[in-house]
Amino acid sequence: MRPFYVYILRCADGSYYVGHTDDIVLRLQQHENGEVGYTSLRKPVELMWQGEFETREGALAFELQIKGWSRAKKEALMAGDWERVQELALSHGKVAGAPRLRQAQPERVGGHGAQGGDEVGLPLQDEASTPLTVQPEHVEGRAKPTHALFEGVIGHPGPVQRRAMSKAITLLESTRVDHRAQADELLTQLLPHTGKAFRLGISGVPGVGKSTFIEALGLYLISQGHRVAVLTIDPSSTVSGGSILGDKTRMEHLSVHEKAYIRPSPSSGTLGGVAEKTREAMLVCEAAGYDVVIVETVGVGQSEIAVAGMTDMFVLMQLPNAGDDLQAIKKGVMEIADLVVINKADIDKNAATRAEAQITSSLRLLSQHGNPENAHHDETLWHPKVVQISALLGQGVDSFWAAVTQFRQLQTANGRLATRREKQALSWMWERIDAGLKLAFRQHPQVKELLPQMQADVAAGRIAASTAARNLLQAQSNNALAAIK
Ligand code: GDP
Repeated sequence: MRPFYVYILRCADGSYYVGHTDDIVLRLQQHENGEVGYTSLRKPVELMWQGEFETREGALAFELQIKGWSRAKKEALMAGDWERVQELALSHGKVAGAPRLRQAQPERVGGHGAQGGDEVGLPLQDEASTPLTVQPEHVEGRAKPTHALFEGVIGHPGPVQRRAMSKAITLLESTRVDHRAQADELLTQLLPHTGKAFRLGISGVPGVGKSTFIEALGLYLISQGHRVAVLTIDPSSTVSGGSILGDKTRMEHLSVHEKAYIRPSPSSGTLGGVAEKTREAMLVCEAAGYDVVIVETVGVGQSEIAVAGMTDMFVLMQLPNAGDDLQAIKKGVMEIADLVVINKADIDKNAATRAEAQITSSLRLLSQHGNPENAHHDETLWHPKVVQISALLGQGVDSFWAAVTQFRQLQTANGRLATRREKQALSWMWERIDAGLKLAFRQHPQVKELLPQMQADVAAGRIAASTAARNLLQAQSNNALAAIK
């Protein structure tokens, strides 16, 4: 079903225009053409915020609410700072307004807004917003618009830095073309400050105990002097937007700790897109001085491969059930695990020990068949291990971290950590190139014209798939449409 949008535009006289529509692109065009909301003074010039709603009623109710808001409250909304919005609601004595607001919160927000209830903080000012009409004189001769954000991210740890991080990640997650240019600029500035953290991927089926474990591990690491960032890749949230607020409360103590930073999964796009955003968010956390970055994912589909492809070490969490390991082997996840953790060992110690033995022998088998160089025991190489823990009781967290430290030392000494990162960076580049080419291909006018017919012909068996592909590629490369017709 088509979503409804509530949006805020900045007008030439400094006021804000609030509206709703089911076709945001068309509506912006109408504003630009002066067909809607345009008076000699009140010319809408800039899209400041947009949020998505499932129903027109929901959108309308929210539009009416915003219209009654003070300027400060509107600006807090544009900055995605829901906490500030709540605060303002309370400070005006409208205590009852707060829960109503939460209910009316849009399913998805764009523009400057945060992806969820995360602390985004101060507005990005004019820097990251899109003028409806491009005004080059505002672009020339200015300091880099992302500079303040960059300074904030690499600045002192504390609330100001956290807000800058959240704003930076929101900018990186934005799908708007003009934001992308700024995001790239920001990444280039941040890059020299990245790379020092240890990147740990953690995966497992829902209910295995990931968040319980990450909470215990995070608090343990903080007690050891580390700063810990947790990012999630949740493929299900790309559909439902579901886990966004839930994630934060999952790690109750860690999420409020000043030395921890938790960012839920970006809420839109394909897995490839979500993974790209997470990779970039990881760089922001590193530049901010977080020295352990944990990327968590649910054990479904390709997300585990994506996480293994962006971290230094990939940890698979398993339950002490027989057969659980077979699932992981079938999906090819066991092969990429550097460490397997058997959680909930407190429930049945014997079952956990049996699972440990089984998985250890599976890992040996996999290394013999899948990776010949790991088959013999070489002390300079890491051999995947299995550890038992109880995340709930906090047991085994220290021996888990000892294994991680050993992995890190070995892989640093034998050069594999560096090679892994180089390979990851290059495959990340190629992945983005492939995605970009595919998009450009699909958007090419000749391809667009030819594609429906070719698809129909291939489906009906009138033309071979490879011939159709060649025709389409040719259509793109030399506009050979006429010749093919
Ligand atoms: P996630 O979906 O993988 O993040 O799993 P959760 O961390 O939310 O845990 C799912 C359930 O398992 C919760 O009720 C936890 O309290 C419970 N749990 C997690 N770890 C352990 C453990 O080590 N032992 C026991 N007995 N229960 C656990």
